[in-house]
Amino acid sequence: MKKKHLALIAHDGKKALMVSFVRDNIEEFRKYKISATGNTGKLLQAAGLKVTCKLSGPLGGDAQIAAEVATKKCHGVIFFRDPLGMHPHDPDISMLMRICDVHNVPLATNPISAELLIRGLTE
Ligand code: PGA
Repeated sequence: MKKKHLALIAHDGKKALMVSFVRDNIEEFRKYKISATGNTGKLLQAAGLKVTCKLSGPLGGDAQIAAEVATKKCHGVIFFRDPLGMHPHDPDISMLMRICDVHNVPLATNPISAELLIRGLTE
C-alpha cells in the first residue's frame, strides 16, 4: 500500500515536545512519508526519522506545506504551535490552518490529537 503523507511542524517552544512525541511513536511514524518545516525536520532526522525538509517556517515552510495540502499531496498535519509565542509568520500559520479546513485534512495541534491522527490515518 502506498504510504500516506504527513507534515510535521513545531514552533521553537514546542520542538522538544515534538521530538519526544515522535520518539514515543516512531513505529507509527515510519508508516508514513514525512515532511517537516526546516528546523523541525532536522531535529526529527537526528531522532532517527526519514524526513523531507521544507524551508524553515518563517521563510515559507508552512506555506509549502499548505500548498501540498491544497493539492492533495499531504493527508494530515501535526502542528505543535506555541500559543505563548509571537510569530513573524502568523499569516502563513493561519493560512495553513484555513487550507486544512478548506480541504478537510486532519490537523492536530497537541499530542493527544496527534496520536489519534497517526493511528486513524493508517486504519
Ligand atoms: P521550523 O519552522 O521548523 O523551521 O522552526 C516552524 C515554524 O516556526 O513554523
